[in-house]
Amino acid sequence: MKTLGGYKLPNRVRIPARMLDDALVNIIDEYKHRITKNITLKRLADRTYSDYIRRTKSRNGICECITCKKKFKWDKTGWTWNRIQNWHFKSRMYLKYRFRDDNCRPQCWNCNCNLNWCYKKYTLEMIRIFWLDRVQKIEDDNTLFTIKNWEYVEMIKRFYSFLPKNT
Ligand SMILES: [Zn+2]
Repeated sequence: MKTLGGYKLPNRVRIPARMLDDALVNIIDEYKHRITKNITLKRLADRTYSDYIRRTKSRNGICECITCKKKFKWDKTGWTWNRIQNWHFKSRMYLKYRFRDDNCRPQCWNCNCNLNWCYKKYTLEMIRIFWLDRVQKIEDDNTLFTIKNWEYVEMIKRFYSFLPKNT
């Protein structure tokens, strides 16, 4: 079992030991209950980025679904909050756009389940926000892309730094 500064990391952590510093260990500690499988840099980046998108797109703690406009209030337990998610216009499998703000917006769980209907509406909203040529460019761009471990670590810390603390 890996330890850092006396803290025992969960067994599910699959992150190279040399990447672990106090700041990253703190984030792992906060997110360990929200990642059910092994904790990898990619999964940790997804979780912190989802929070980052929902929090930075909220106003006064209220996050609106881009598609149906239903409003969700931030709550500590996550019960209401988990009903709105970070939705990717271009699939997460395209790493280049997985963590990009011009590809992601909050969308509610309900709309996520009606993808065919929502995809059109979501696309229209993205075009309204970003203009057609940008959305078209993302849609057409299937460039292979890799993210290095240190880049994941930097992203995770950056996303996390945007989140309000003690709420
Ligand atoms: Zn919705």
